[in-house]
Amino acid sequence: MGQKAIEIIEEGNLNKKELLEKLQRAYADECLAYIQYWEGARLPVGIMRTKLVEEMQEHANEELEHANLIAKRIMELGATPIVGPQEWLKKSTCGYLEPMDSNIMVLLEQNISSERCAMEVYRELADFTRGKDDITYKLAVKILEEETEHEQDLEDIRNDMEKIDS
Ligand code: FE
Ligand code: FE
Ligand code: MG
Repeated sequence: MGQKAIEIIEEGNLNKKELLEKLQRAYADECLAYIQYWEGARLPVGIMRTKLVEEMQEHANEELEHANLIAKRIMELGATPIVGPQEWLKKSTCGYLEPMDSNIMVLLEQNISSERCAMEVYRELADFTRGKDDITYKLAVKILEEETEHEQDLEDIRNDMEKIDS
C-alpha cells in the first residue's frame, strides 16, 4: 500500500471508496474479457478463421494486461483485487458473453458489444478521475484507447466478412 499515493487521492477530493469500487468492477470486467477471448479463440469456423483467431488471441493477452494494470492500481491504493470468477461475475459491468457459437459473425457481434461496454466503463472512469487522480486517469485513457482499437479491429473483420457474403 502506498501511503502517499492514498494521501494524493484524498487531497484530490476523490472518494477513495468509490474509486476503489470502480477499479474492482473494471478489474472484474477485464478478467472476464480475457476469458471470453481466450475461450472464444478456439471456436471460429470458416473463412477468416485464421485472422479472427489471431486477433482474439491478441486481444485476450491485452485484456489480461489491462487486468494486471488495474490490479496494480488497486494495490497502490491499499486494497486487494477481488478474487475468483464468482466475484468477477457479481461485480462486472459488462458481464460474460459465453462463446458458444462457432459462427464468426456471432463471435464478432458478441465481442464488439463487449468492447463497446468496456469503452463506456473507461470513459466513465476517466470522467471520474480527471483532474483528481492523474495516475488512474492516465490508465483509464490508455485502456480506453486500446478498447477503441479492439472495437475497430473486430469491425474491420466484420466488414471484410460482409464483402465476402455479397
Ligand atoms: Fe480491456
Ligand atoms: Fe478490449
Ligand atoms: Mg487487435
